[in-house]
Amino acid sequence: MKIFLNQISPEGVVVEEQAGAAELDISSDVLVLEGPVGIRATVNRITNAVTVDMELYAKIREVCSLCLEEFKVDFRKGIQFNYAVNAPDLSIDLNQDIREEMILDYPMKPLCRPDCKGLCPGCGKNLNEGGCSCATAKKTTL
Ligand SMILES: [Zn+2]
Ligand SMILES: [Zn+2]
Repeated sequence: MKIFLNQISPEGVVVEEQAGAAELDISSDVLVLEGPVGIRATVNRITNAVTVDMELYAKIREVCSLCLEEFKVDFRKGIQFNYAVNAPDLSIDLNQDIREEMILDYPMKPLCRPDCKGLCPGCGKNLNEGGCSCATAKKTTL
């Protein structure tokens, strides 16, 4: 997303846009987007200071760190950016900052659900789908 300084009227401006992974320079080994990122920015300028109140919406595909199942997360974040602008500047490029905010929020260990049971270390079965024979064997020895 680029905001042109001459776009910003004295009472501010609201810019809505959709930005794809390529535009935001988000490669799929960092973060997998399901469709473009929705951006809604309220932009205000006071002399050389530009304030951008931004809301980001996206669907992100994550892989559970315990059971390795893919799942989708609704990403939603409100951020405020402040920029200093000088006379020769014609526009502000927000893509780099949007990218960083999104990557910053990506969990180190994604979980498909808070109580994910993960995979059985014995047979590798996804224990969210039910117990395996290892579990019952363990139970009888206890
Ligand atoms: Zn899981
Ligand atoms: Zn098992």
